Amino acid sequence: MSKGRINLVHIYPREMSIYGDLGNTRCLASRLRWHGYEAVVHQHHPGTEFPEDAHLVVGGGGQDSGQARVEADLERNGDRLKALAADGTPMLMICGMYQLFGNAFITVEGRSLPGLGILDVTTRGNAKRMIGPVVLDTEFGEVVGYENHSGSTVLGEGQKPFGTVRSGMGNNGTDQTEGATTGNVFGSYLHGPILPANPAFADALIARAVERATGRAFEPGTPDDTLADQARLRQVRRLVG
Ligand code: GLN
Repeated sequence: MSKGRINLVHIYPREMSIYGDLGNTRCLASRLRWHGYEAVVHQHHPGTEFPEDAHLVVGGGGQDSGQARVEADLERNGDRLKALAADGTPMLMICGMYQLFGNAFITVEGRSLPGLGILDVTTRGNAKRMIGPVVLDTEFGEVVGYENHSGSTVLGEGQKPFGTVRSGMGNNGTDQTEGATTGNVFGSYLHGPILPANPAFADALIARAVERATGRAFEPGTPDDTLADQARLRQVRRLVG
């Protein structure tokens, strides 16, 4: 018998999922099942109704052009997303969607795409891209992934980063911060996709979603994470020794 039903909303999977970030949605849905819960995945596309009951919201990376294509819908649903975030809904926004959950993304051509301001970060496009494997220290332990962005992100005063860079560029290549987190909202540049490679982080999002959906504490199952753990350790050893 299912321990409960969790509604997972993936925003803009067509426009904003070009670096394998769909793997985050698949990982969350699979892990929920492995833990004994029922996962209902809803894909939200521009111009359609935002689902009533969202327990977990994810968004991925995309090109600047993809970001421009989701702008109007993001603005239309901005109050809804802000209310969900303020109410403690867990959310994971990668790269391009991370930028749009910030205050603004100013493209390399100087066009300003306003963000939702859920995370106090501001991003400017550069001629130079930041590309390569990454190792972070986070509250969920070592997190590994792969970054590929031209946007350089600066945290507002008091904004907590998602992690500290041990190898890679992170938000801007200079201050060793990576991503941002406020309440249960997480923004990060890490593709990979990030969640299959970092099950502890995936389960932290799941635990928060389960509490919201069922009103009860998360009762984990025993998924076999051997492969993910081995791959993560290999990347950590290769990059930081
Ligand atoms: N346009 C953004 C950048 O290059 C987003 C890239 C991404 O989502 N990977 O900074």
